[in-house]
Formats: sequence, C-alpha cells, structure tokens
Amino acid sequence: MDLIVRNATLPDGRTGLDIAIRGGRIVEVAPRIAATAPEEIDAAGNLVTPPFVDSHFHLDATLSYGLPRINRSGTLLEGIALWGELKPLLTHEAVIERALKYCDWAVARGLLAIRSHVDVCDDRLLAVEALLDVKRQVAPYLDLQLVAFPQDGLFRSPHALANLKRALSLGVEVVGGIPHFERTMADGTESVRVLCELAAEKNLRVDMHCDETDDPLSRHIETLAYQTQRLGLGGRVAGSHLTSMHSMDNYYVSKLIPLIKEAGVAAIANPLINITIQGRHDTYPKRRGLTRVPELLAAGVDVAFGQDCTMDPWYSLGSGDMLDVAHMGLHVAQMTSVEGMRACFRAVTETPAKILGLQGYGLDIGCNGDLVVLDAANPIEAIRLRAARLAVVRRGKIISRSPAAHAELNLPGRPARADFRLNSRA
Ligand SMILES: [Zn+2]
Repeated sequence: MDLIVRNATLPDGRTGLDIAIRGGRIVEVAPRIAATAPEEIDAAGNLVTPPFVDSHFHLDATLSYGLPRINRSGTLLEGIALWGELKPLLTHEAVIERALKYCDWAVARGLLAIRSHVDVCDDRLLAVEALLDVKRQVAPYLDLQLVAFPQDGLFRSPHALANLKRALSLGVEVVGGIPHFERTMADGTESVRVLCELAAEKNLRVDMHCDETDDPLSRHIETLAYQTQRLGLGGRVAGSHLTSMHSMDNYYVSKLIPLIKEAGVAAIANPLINITIQGRHDTYPKRRGLTRVPELLAAGVDVAFGQDCTMDPWYSLGSGDMLDVAHMGLHVAQMTSVEGMRACFRAVTETPAKILGLQGYGLDIGCNGDLVVLDAANPIEAIRLRAARLAVVRRGKIISRSPAAHAELNLPGRPARADFRLNSRA
C-alpha cells in the first residue's frame, strides 16, 4: 500500500472504515485493514469525502478584482462591460499567474476538478491559449475542463462562431453559449440550435449560460431541452444559471421541468452569484433569482452548485471553497431538511462529477485515490462549519494539509478550547 486512511466516516454514513490506496487507486475499503503503508492518516472518525468539484467557473477572469475598475452597479451587464474593458489589457503571463494562484487555493480547499468557461470572443484567443497551458500545468493535481464560451454572444460578436470552433480545435472540450445575451430571443434560439448541432457533430458536451436573467419570458432552457432531446445529447448537456425559472409562471414551469428531465439536461445553479446579481432591478420585495433547485431535484434532474466567480468583474468575494457555495445554496433554496442539506453536499461533489463526466470519481474500490479528510462528522456539519480540510489526497499522495479550526479560550470555569464541533469524533 502507498497510503491508508484509518477510521473514516463516509458521506453516506458508513463509519469506522479504512481506505487503502496503491498505485494511485483505491484498492480496499474495510474496517481495520491489516496491511500497513509508509504514509497513514488517522481520520479519527471524521468525514472523508471524494474531492469537491466545481461545475461552473471563469478561470480567465478570476482574481482580477479592481482591474481596471470595480463594478459599481453590481449587475451582470456592467460585469460583462467591465470584462470587455479588461480583455484587451490581458497578457498571457498574467492570466496564467492568476489562474495558477486560484488553483492553489482550490487544492487547499479540496477542490480537485473545475469546469471553467473561457471567453472566445477575443480574436487573439489569448485566454484560451493561457488556460490550455494552465490545464497542462495543473494536470498532476487538478482536473481542468474548459468550455468555449462566446461571452459577447455567438451572433452578437462578429467572429465568435469562428473563434469558438478554433478554440475547440485547440483542445477546448465543451461547447458553451449565452442565448439570453444575443440581440433577440430569436437569435438566442438559433444560437442554441447551432451550438447543439456543433456539439453533436463533434461528440462534445454542452454547457450554456442559459436564461441568466430575471425575465420570466426568457425560455432558452426550453430550447436547450428540445435540441438535446432532438439530437440525442441527453446526459451530456447542462444549463447553467437558469435564473429566469425563479420568475416564471408556475403553470409553465410545471410543463418545463418534466421536459428538462426527459431530455436529460442537468442544471447548474451558482448560488453566491445568483443571489448577488439577480433582482438588481427590483425594489421590494426583491427576488432571490436562484433557479428552482428543490423542484428540479424532486423531478430527478441532476442539480449542481458552482462557484462561478471569485474576485472578478462580477463578484468581489470568493475563495474556492465549495462548502461556502453549498452553504449559500442551502439558505437561498431553503433546503433545511436533513435530506435537503445532504443534497447540497452532493451538489458540490458527486453530482458535478457526473456532469463533467469524471472517470474514477468516488470512494469505491477501483476509483482514483483522491479524497479529502474534513474536520466534521458528516456532510451537514461540514457545510455548517465550512469545515477545515485536514488533508487533501490526490492519487494516494497528500497534497495539502490544514489545521482544525479552534479558538483558545480564557474564561473562568470554562474549557481552554472551543472547537465548534457538536458531533463528536467517533
Ligand atoms: Zn458563468
């Protein structure tokens, strides 16, 4: 054995298990494994999970907060305009440096797979080439999946379609889109058709920014489900954001959700960003803007939560912590039942892994030797505490360690230490 994790509790509640890794793969999961290994981790009853997965991010824009200025209105449209100001100023080296720094943060948070959109509307394809470089550099410790994203509109931006095809030929592997940003509803509909046909022809996955608006009549998700079903792309297509569903008529949604399910389209909500950007034109009451997560889940649709932005033209906070994302999703969608809270944990682990099509993900025998030991007893406590990642393991090697969170107290008649845990270690 190369590494054994002792006395783990798994996300499904099984406890007292050892996990043995050899040759980069999990070879045994059982109580008290007799073998020894040069490296062992005592999980001490803590939660051990497969790594976090972010199904929606923008690595080309990340950590650029304040460049060249700050988004004053906080809206999506000012963010897009601001990104347009920054784009001509980008350099290959600076994009790589910021992206690598974010990947360091991700690893420290146990986030070992990211799907990142990359803007293809810059004719130089500078960000595409930079992120392809980053993808190669981080491959030993992080899976980076890139989406060709026509930020300024497939038809609205003059060379977007040609650039998108060039990006795919350079090695970008997912087809993106932004139908709600095209000039007209009709152009948006046509963009979905063209992009889905391109994906079908090239046998690629699709992930579109879709209906990221408060307009209840923005219904490109209907077209995305239709094209997915028509072209047999089920299981390979995701609709990101889908925030207009928050504002849609209930009767229409009662028809729409079964169509999404039938087509095999997954939904990716971005709770931190949706709660911040949507509802900006409202007075009071203000809409939350998050898509209908519990209802989609109840219909059997795969729903993941993404980080989307960290310190960029759209969002001034963020740290690569998918537990932060799950925490916000849980609150905004009011998923406070025990099952709801557990679903929020799955929305940043196994569900996005399925959406990305990650191979060897999980804690079963034969899976990749990738896992995270959390300072928490179970997924709910992990979300509540945004628990410390005590150890992060990739292919059987420890790549990051963090101390447990606690405070030293100085109170009369009280213990010297508060560790925020309620569920004791086993
Ligand atoms: Zn996005």
